[in-house]
Amino acid sequence: MAGETLEFKTEVKELLNLMIHSLYSHKEIFLRELISNASDAIDKARYEALTNGEILERCGEWKIRISADKGAGTLKVSDNGIGMTHDEVIAELGTIAHSGTREFLEQMKQAQQKDRPGLIGQFGVGFYSSFMVADRVTVVTRKATETTKKAVRWESTADGSYTVGEVEKDRPGTDVTLHLKAEEKKYLDEWEIRDVVRKYSDYIEHPVVMDIEREKVDSADKAKRIKTIEEETLNSRKAIWLKEPSEIPAEEYNDFYKHLSHDFTDPAKVIHYRAEGTSEFTALLYLPQKAPYGIMYREYKIGPMLYVKRVQIMDHCEQLLPEYLRFVKGVVDSSDLPLNVSREILQANRHIEVIKKNVTKKVLDTLAEMKKSDYDTYVSFYGQFGRILKEGIHYDVARKEQIADLLLFSSTKTEAGKFTNLDDYVKAMPAGQEEIYYILGKPDENVLQSPYLEVFRKKGYEVLCLTDDIDDIIMIDLKEYKGKKVHSAAKGDIHLDTAAETDKGKFEKLMGRMKELLKEEVKDVRLSGRLTDSACCLVADEGELDPQMEKLLKSMGQEVPSRKRILEINPQHPVFEAMQAMADQGRDDAVKEYTGLLYNQALLLEGSKIKDPVAFARSVAKLMLEGAKRP
Ligand code: ADP
Repeated sequence: MAGETLEFKTEVKELLNLMIHSLYSHKEIFLRELISNASDAIDKARYEALTNGEILERCGEWKIRISADKGAGTLKVSDNGIGMTHDEVIAELGTIAHSGTREFLEQMKQAQQKDRPGLIGQFGVGFYSSFMVADRVTVVTRKATETTKKAVRWESTADGSYTVGEVEKDRPGTDVTLHLKAEEKKYLDEWEIRDVVRKYSDYIEHPVVMDIEREKVDSADKAKRIKTIEEETLNSRKAIWLKEPSEIPAEEYNDFYKHLSHDFTDPAKVIHYRAEGTSEFTALLYLPQKAPYGIMYREYKIGPMLYVKRVQIMDHCEQLLPEYLRFVKGVVDSSDLPLNVSREILQANRHIEVIKKNVTKKVLDTLAEMKKSDYDTYVSFYGQFGRILKEGIHYDVARKEQIADLLLFSSTKTEAGKFTNLDDYVKAMPAGQEEIYYILGKPDENVLQSPYLEVFRKKGYEVLCLTDDIDDIIMIDLKEYKGKKVHSAAKGDIHLDTAAETDKGKFEKLMGRMKELLKEEVKDVRLSGRLTDSACCLVADEGELDPQMEKLLKSMGQEVPSRKRILEINPQHPVFEAMQAMADQGRDDAVKEYTGLLYNQALLLEGSKIKDPVAFARSVAKLMLEGAKRP
């Protein structure tokens, strides 16, 4: 065999290392992974065959075959699916395509032994899991479109490299042969194989077959025993979603979920229904308990599997669900779509649109129901997926209020670990409160004592405390809830303190001078309706981003224009009387110095850096000295 030896990518090496040396439970999943790959390969070939009849002829009847050779100590999983070319073998079996692989490996290293299989499941290591039970793996594969016997042979002992070379293969498809480790020979046992297949791959649509050897009594000569070999199908191949929900025990639902999601944990919720009318389809959907690895990455594959009349069309049909519900797993089986539906057709298909609308409503309704009747499960679900669900407020304007109803919040009034929601918030609003208020940050000392909340504290108004990166944008998009405007406590004008209104005019000249002095820094100086104790604070204008948010977006490399903010002063604070007196006495230098100090103080209060800390420190020291001189 003409061949070459190639190095695995670093990530693959590390992954293999972890898998070989630190995974001791659930090793049997390797078989599920290989069968699942084989089944995907057949689906792809079948899809190609719709437009290329020759493929069907070459491949024959779709089948996954398991062969155990006790003599050689090998277990082989074969399929007659799509196969791989030389370049595909190198790309698919020499690298890991997942983004976030590095972080995943880090997490694996730090995780407890017992948590590792779960992590592996969420990441989906697939093919490489073979090396948990084998010390050598050989793959022989021929592309279904290849008209000659030309095939590729890949082999590795997981020592950092692999070989690839050209061989011949009679039929298209892939044979994966595991040379089992001495201590893993149990996987050659017929009953062990049956067990694992039934446990993890029972729902695979294609037959998983094995030649079963039996000794039988010879019918002609009862004293003689003869050996027979019969091909047996090991999986039931039942499409669980087409059964009546009343006939499906919870365990079966959960098993199927684990099979399709590669998760080890049971789902938080099963949604199984049949839609009839304008569009006929069956949906079996799952809400997971735990966020799968990589769900926050752009490359995360979203959408349930799409079947048309029991035939799998696509692994992930993203047109079936909005992105903000990307945590939903499952299957949609439609009776209306054509079997040869292509990705282009899906883009603008009326049936798909109808299904998407229907499924979206169903998922949101289910979440609302869960929040009402199974609150603890909902809270834990929300902890995992709330951040993603919220995106819907931005993207799905029509369902904004429905999604808003699903949000949970900490607030200045919730106990640690407890939450409120918009409906309860509005119901608890005291007489006189007209708007819903929020601030960015956890309800800790810093936030609870924040000068921005002074007037709210005084009036006893609750303020929602938001901690997700997108919260500011989400609240700006939400605009209002049940007719109540949503308002940042740190932004825009707040008219809650009537005392401040009466002082209008008193400091007009002083404020005019301050505005002039700070014209490069702020766009306005005005009286504050939110301060009752502190002297001043900086606020963003209505509809603009919170400074915390601005910082966050910038740190993520996004272009955010820095807008000038507004300096609000508290007319009840004695410092302004003093400054007014300075102004009246023509001591403009002092007014200048005080204005600078106040502005810098406001920057510090909002958590920003001051431009010239040296000058600030000098000013403060000078004032301290002056203070010390006084008796
Ligand atoms: P995943 O299945 O999650 O993509 P794997 O590591 O199991 O990850 O497989 C990597 C890739 O190798 C697959 O996406 C597929 O392209 C290819 N592959 C694996 N097994 C087969 C097979 N039996 N037939 C064809 N291609 C395969």
